[in-house]
Amino acid sequence: MPEQKNVFTEVLEGALNIAKGLGTVALQSTRDPVSTSYPDEMPELYAASRHRLALNVNPSTGEHLCIACKQCERVCPDQCITVIPDPTAKGKVKEFYIDQGLCMFCGLCTEVCPTDCIINTVDFEMSDYTREDLVFDIKKLTLSKNQSEFYFKFKNLPAPKVKPAPNTNSTTVEQTPAS
Ligand code: SF4
Ligand code: SF4
Repeated sequence: MPEQKNVFTEVLEGALNIAKGLGTVALQSTRDPVSTSYPDEMPELYAASRHRLALNVNPSTGEHLCIACKQCERVCPDQCITVIPDPTAKGKVKEFYIDQGLCMFCGLCTEVCPTDCIINTVDFEMSDYTREDLVFDIKKLTLSKNQSEFYFKFKNLPAPKVKPAPNTNSTTVEQTPAS
């Protein structure tokens, strides 16, 4: 038969447990929080953070850095990139689409890009109301000179070389963007 505790022992144990609980609350209340109060406070983001994709321009000249080589399009496992070269000028891009809603932010496209044009930005606030709004065209993707300058410094990228004048004898065939 189990030993029965008297009332005094039970009250004492209960009081000790309450004191232990209050001690834990007091200890945790004096510690610095490990989380940030987003959205009032932005979390610290790093150069290697992989968020919304964008296209750089040359920070000194404003020239678009995409040479329409399509390496990013080929490497993308999600097939969410469509690059349309300019049919009238070799090495020039006419349109560029990225379905940011399909992207899994693996960063492969940024690794193969020979001109550091396509990059992951630190912008993770890209929720929208429709899936169609997450398909960004070249206008929405292309960063300003100041933004590109910021990312070249932030990611410690080598300064881009000025591109040679485009060859206007190219006969590249135009393609349809991904839906
Ligand atoms: S980050 Fe990955 S999934 Fe997203 S576009 Fe680039 S290669 Fe495709
Ligand atoms: S890999 Fe870079 S240069 Fe080539 S098409 Fe993509 S963004 Fe343009």
